[in-house]
Amino acid sequence: MKSNIKINKQRLIESIEEMAKIGKTPKGGVNRQALTDLDKISRDLFINWCKKEKLQITIDKMGNIFARRSGKNNKLPPIMSGSHLDTQPTGGKYDGALGVLSALEVIRSLNDINYITEAPLEIVVWTNEEGCRFPPSMTGSAVFSGQYSLNKALAIKDPEGNTLGKELTRIKYDGKTSCKPRKIGAFLETHIEQGPILEMEKKTIGVVSGAQAQRWYEVNIKGMEAHAGPTPMNRRKDALVGASKIVLLVNEVGNKFQPGGCATSGVLNIKSPSRNVIPGECFLTIDFRHPSDFKLKKMDEKLRIEIKNISKNYNLKINIKQILKLSAVSFDKKIRKTIKSVSTNLNFPHKEIISGAGHDAVNINKIAPTGMIFIPCVDGISHNEIEKALEKDIFSGAQVLLHSMIALAEDL
Ligand SMILES: [Zn+2]
Repeated sequence: MKSNIKINKQRLIESIEEMAKIGKTPKGGVNRQALTDLDKISRDLFINWCKKEKLQITIDKMGNIFARRSGKNNKLPPIMSGSHLDTQPTGGKYDGALGVLSALEVIRSLNDINYITEAPLEIVVWTNEEGCRFPPSMTGSAVFSGQYSLNKALAIKDPEGNTLGKELTRIKYDGKTSCKPRKIGAFLETHIEQGPILEMEKKTIGVVSGAQAQRWYEVNIKGMEAHAGPTPMNRRKDALVGASKIVLLVNEVGNKFQPGGCATSGVLNIKSPSRNVIPGECFLTIDFRHPSDFKLKKMDEKLRIEIKNISKNYNLKINIKQILKLSAVSFDKKIRKTIKSVSTNLNFPHKEIISGAGHDAVNINKIAPTGMIFIPCVDGISHNEIEKALEKDIFSGAQVLLHSMIALAEDL
């Protein structure tokens, strides 16, 4: 390995800081939601930087941006890396931007020493990763990988009723290239972990093995409204008691399926709540995750059996509807091996880690060999204005990306 090639840490940090000025919030975060004027400014800045590096820019019909650097053999499929530039309303500087700008820094560093790789390299900026303005999330990569229809994506509306397609046209990112799968040699995404594990275990690099399986549910609990005074305890059909039992059950199931299980009730509504009425109807949501499809199925079974018991014991009608089911994702073995051996050669402490969140890489994994490089984020905090990554970790992540891209482009 040509481990003497180094990225320029200062330049990378400066680019991250400059990008973070676009949509800067008072608390030091970023609010740069998809296809707003601010998103346009960030895209323009990125393209300007790419043009300085003599990259060839293509924009597809979903507004995904590709910046290509020729290789020695341009018949080979490109080695691609990137992420997203849109953020949550109270987002941080690193979620997304780190992956895009690390890939840019790789190319700048190779240009500095005039190093041409065998296969061409491409940086990508995926449109609407966060999905907060135009749900669902990760739409640009979903359409590109053939999992979501272009027309459906262009018709997604924001809360004001503007469609994604209209907004793409307004900010002049409605590209001409078709948005569909094409041959990619490898796709790599560098990202902050958005969790506390790497920091806790003092590891610099997370070699992401895959993403968790997920199941989401909506639960309706029907009892009967009745007066809080005259109704004896043994005659009640209290929907909130049932809902409370389910919230505790969800937590219990998560704890039972360790390591790896995550179980959350994030929404609980009482229909027409009143202090002297026994609640007659409740609604709650459940989010189950586990790295193993099999274990998640077991969590699902346990949930359903126990809910039946709650329904019987408390005299309630409980309807449970599964609204999302995602299988566990495994990233490409060869790419994981490459990231691992590059990290070892560079002396960065590393470990295999599973992604708790969704990423564009999960979509691209369906059509190309894919891998992710995680770096720690301080206190595991993300989707928050105080999100922070340390300079030394940012350097390590980009350095691992550089040598992984070289290894893959040279087919080492
Ligand atoms: Zn992200």
